Amino acid sequence: PTLNRSESEDSGIVFRMKKSGRSIAIFYGSQTGTAEEFATRLAKDAQRYGMKALAVDPEECNMEELAELHQIENSLAIFCMATYGEGDPTDNAQDFYDWLQQGDTQLDGLKFAVFGLGNKTYEHYNSTGIYVDKRLEELGAERVYEIGLGDDDTNIEEDFVTWKEGLWPTVCEKFGIEVSKQEGSFRSYSFTKYEPDDIDEKTVYSGEVARLHSYKNQRPPYDAKNPYLSPVLVNRELHKGGGRSCMHIEFDITDTKIRYEAGDHVAVYPTNDVTMVEKIAKRLDVDLDTFFTLDAIDEDASKRHPFPCPTTFRTALLHYLDISSPLRTNVLSEFVEYTSDEKDKEFLTLLSSPTPEGKKKYQEWVMDARRNLLAILDDVPSCNPAMDHICELLPHLQARYYSIASSPKMHPTSIHICAVLVEYDTSSGRTNLGVATNWLKTKIPVPGSEASVQPRVPIYVRKSQFRLPFKVSHPVMMVGPGTGLAPFIGFIQDRAYHKEAGKDVGKTTLYFGCRKREEDFIYEEHLTKWKEDDVLTELKIAFSRDGPKKVYVQHLLAENKQSVWENIQNHGHIYVCGDARHMAREVHDAIVDIVVECGGKSQQQATDFVKGLMNKGRYSADVWS
Ligand code: FAD
Ligand code: NAP
Repeated sequence: PTLNRSESEDSGIVFRMKKSGRSIAIFYGSQTGTAEEFATRLAKDAQRYGMKALAVDPEECNMEELAELHQIENSLAIFCMATYGEGDPTDNAQDFYDWLQQGDTQLDGLKFAVFGLGNKTYEHYNSTGIYVDKRLEELGAERVYEIGLGDDDTNIEEDFVTWKEGLWPTVCEKFGIEVSKQEGSFRSYSFTKYEPDDIDEKTVYSGEVARLHSYKNQRPPYDAKNPYLSPVLVNRELHKGGGRSCMHIEFDITDTKIRYEAGDHVAVYPTNDVTMVEKIAKRLDVDLDTFFTLDAIDEDASKRHPFPCPTTFRTALLHYLDISSPLRTNVLSEFVEYTSDEKDKEFLTLLSSPTPEGKKKYQEWVMDARRNLLAILDDVPSCNPAMDHICELLPHLQARYYSIASSPKMHPTSIHICAVLVEYDTSSGRTNLGVATNWLKTKIPVPGSEASVQPRVPIYVRKSQFRLPFKVSHPVMMVGPGTGLAPFIGFIQDRAYHKEAGKDVGKTTLYFGCRKREEDFIYEEHLTKWKEDDVLTELKIAFSRDGPKKVYVQHLLAENKQSVWENIQNHGHIYVCGDARHMAREVHDAIVDIVVECGGKSQQQATDFVKGLMNKGRYSADVWS
């Protein structure tokens, strides 16, 4: 296949690189922003080593040009490729991935290096990065440095830093460039501050994702760049006790042309905590109402601005910047020059240095204690970074995904979610609040009022592969403890709809797990009613903290192995949703054991059998960590 050549030859990537004297293209497959951030950092690094690079979104260029890149002297393609979901490429890398898989364009002469971003708790750890690395070589390209694998479950920052510390000297040597790294600050954007009289407020962004005033003049189609500002119709507590909170939220999508299926995800663009923003401003003595713009210094840069500009510091901190994640080492390193006290300077230098000592300290002091911008400013009192530099350095605030907990057959004009509030204490004695869930908590609808006056949340629907079987007569077995129940509420509604319409609906089994019947048995009334109405053929609940020993969903699966096996033999589909770290794997192992015991297979045969179910779309997981 050939990729669409939407741009003219003159605006192609090779042309742009030649024109601006660049030799390195850094492509990123990014879903949550980290791969893009790493690509941008590599581009800055290249500059330190005396080379010029361009960070590129594969979706925005013609990747067939990879075959022409060797025309540029000492050229190199670096790929920062994240793996998403069940071993998939990210949305922006999907076309490139398909092209690599299906095409056979020869890439002789192309030099490349790959860094993969993944998470070890998932089965297909880093499969996209590994595939790209292997496939490029098959197509004739030359690997100049071994693949780096980043694990987001431990410390992806450290994995990345370690990899790039080895990459650059190898690249320099390959190209016969003397290895010399320039330290100090490199700015990518120039800062312009406006006096209120000098700027037309109509041109100022106030949190829009892309189009100016898109929240005032809403226009379908709604997507990641153009989210719908949806009224919140319901926001109700699902837990009955236990000190935690889980919200059932309903978003109105009347007259929006938004379509969804049970099993899809809805993305929510959150706003940062106002109190945290004000504390940062106070600590740095910054006027949040300052109007400013950040313009790319390099006129050939892919992005004119790091986020929509002009805007104000308040908007940037509330809507555009990730102010709540632990700071990255490159940010800490840039903070050194803003620090007056020698001890503080030394400390920040240590934290950001790629030495074993530095990495250990960074892991303990920043990652394990989950110290974010404000915590670090508070704990390093003589550090006073410029706000415009912070705006350039921080990663961008990302949308959060939620499994949709409704079916469009029952709820065509609303999308429901069930979200557990994130709040935890850190080893530095602070309480950290999850950005999206704590913001959603404040979106309480006014009782008895119409949608137009209700609080609003920017959302869009992201299609998923998590789908009910095509034939409603096929059995469905769902395993979803905790919030893993969410998509199954939609699935069960779908099955109930078909049953009401008189269709022959197959066996529908749910395995749910929670701590205590009296506390976090969410959707109890609905589940009980569906069981009574025989919409749910079987309802198995594992209460982990009600009895003398822990009972989990996988224990109940083992107890009911014969029924599980019958379902499988009867064209059944298995679905698992919720915790990726432990539950999903343990459920998988329990199913393999059942296949061994009831199907009379060896361990290896049973593992292959379950893999076969996965390949046929009869065993699907929708898990997160
Ligand atoms: P954030 O500000 O993003 O903070 C969360 C981060 O804090 C975590 O990633 C972790 O690094 C850290 N953290 C959290 N707890 C602790 C702790 N105890 N100790 C140390 N660090 C900690 N969530 C749902 O509730 N319901 C769903 O249906 C749902 N579906 C999802 C579907 C998909 C495909 C994906 C990818 C995620 C889903 N999530 C779901 C998770 C959801 O997207 C958010 O990650 C979650 O709501 C937290 O967002 P937040 O902004 O409140 O927290
Ligand atoms: P939860 O209430 O923590 O857990 C639901 C049930 O699952 C409980 O009974 C729990 O038992 C049980 N359980 C614990 N470990 C298990 C295992 N290995 N196998 C099977 N069951 C197990 O669920 P939740 O609050 O919905 O969260 C589910 C998971 O999603 C969390 O573990 C977390 O990793 C993830 N999550 C992450 C975020 C985030 O911020 N990124 C947000 C929400 C959820 P016990 O607790 O009694 O052991």
